[in-house]
Amino acid sequence: PTKLPSLSFPSGPPFECLRRPSRWVPPRMDSSVSPVPRKDKVVVLMGATGSGKSSLSIDLATLFPSEVVNSDKMQVYDGLDITTNKISIPDRRNVPHHLLGEIDPEDGEFNPSDFRSFGGSAIAGIVSRRKLPLIVGGSNSFIHSLIVEQFNPDDDVFTDLNSKSISTEFRYNCCFIWVDVSFPVLCNYLAERVDEMLDLGMFEELAEFYNPDRIKTPTETGLRKAIGVPEFDRYFSKYPPMTEPKEDDWEWRRMRREAYDEAVREIKENTFQLVKRQLRKIQKLRGAGWDLHRVDATMAFREVLMTSDRNRKQRLKPENQKKKKSRRWIDIWNKDVLQPTMKIVKQFFEE
Ligand code: ATP
Repeated sequence: PTKLPSLSFPSGPPFECLRRPSRWVPPRMDSSVSPVPRKDKVVVLMGATGSGKSSLSIDLATLFPSEVVNSDKMQVYDGLDITTNKISIPDRRNVPHHLLGEIDPEDGEFNPSDFRSFGGSAIAGIVSRRKLPLIVGGSNSFIHSLIVEQFNPDDDVFTDLNSKSISTEFRYNCCFIWVDVSFPVLCNYLAERVDEMLDLGMFEELAEFYNPDRIKTPTETGLRKAIGVPEFDRYFSKYPPMTEPKEDDWEWRRMRREAYDEAVREIKENTFQLVKRQLRKIQKLRGAGWDLHRVDATMAFREVLMTSDRNRKQRLKPENQKKKKSRRWIDIWNKDVLQPTMKIVKQFFEE
């Protein structure tokens, strides 16, 4: 019979090793030479609330075919879209988003272990579609639980005084981008953002969410912890939604206005405190050896603040106001944030 050349090993080196001896014994596994499975590449966009991560993720997704996995622990829940500041559907520009408003808040708290398993499945799906997973959100405990090789839900790594408990062994090949904005600039911007969210209907959304018959628990869970809920619950307990205003009772009206202003003031203050905590956690991850690439969006945010300041000074009606995201803003954003990020991500792909 004709010998099929492709099925027979030629003799002599270097093929000798491939021949089976008469009594074949499996070769000893040498871990130093055994092929290590390649880890999936993911890009993680980190940063405090309001720092522009969502906008950057969409810019990136138009350049590298990607899908977003949300890592903000309030935005995973269905509901309160304005209050939790979820990216709107038109702003998503057809980029698929995962774990954004998918979890029923009635099903109890969605914790880091849940995020690890749901987020892990979302990443596997994205990779199977040959797209880049972009992890985007400000909850660092979620990001940590998702990417570390060994996750122990009982370890509260961020409250530990030292960073020893934060692992640098990851189950993915990660590229970390930290969108940073100087703290005072970000706070000024966030104070304006709260006012805008109220203009967009945050108060009405919270009024609908308010349930006077609910028995309060000392520690609220899930979506009930979102900034805005406890602050306005206190207001609604005194001034329930749908109560007829007492037209002539000016004192009642004045007190109601004061209670409203107090709730708004608390929301702003609690948002600033959230930023502080988030920045502390990011510094901790960096200190533990996470290789975070910092991009500085401060100048772009200064430009937004300057535009709204000009609008205020000129007392223009909203329809005549200059768009906050001016041409200048786009130029600064591109130069300081988008281009450096693209360069980092491109390099990560070429590695
Ligand atoms: P992590 O501890 O996971 O890093 P984090 O950065 O979101 O989480 P925490 O210090 O745990 O910060 O604060 C979470 C609290 O911040 C929530 O309970 C909620 O009050 C508020 N919060 C976070 N994200 C949002 C959001 N998108 N909308 C409203 N409130 C939010």
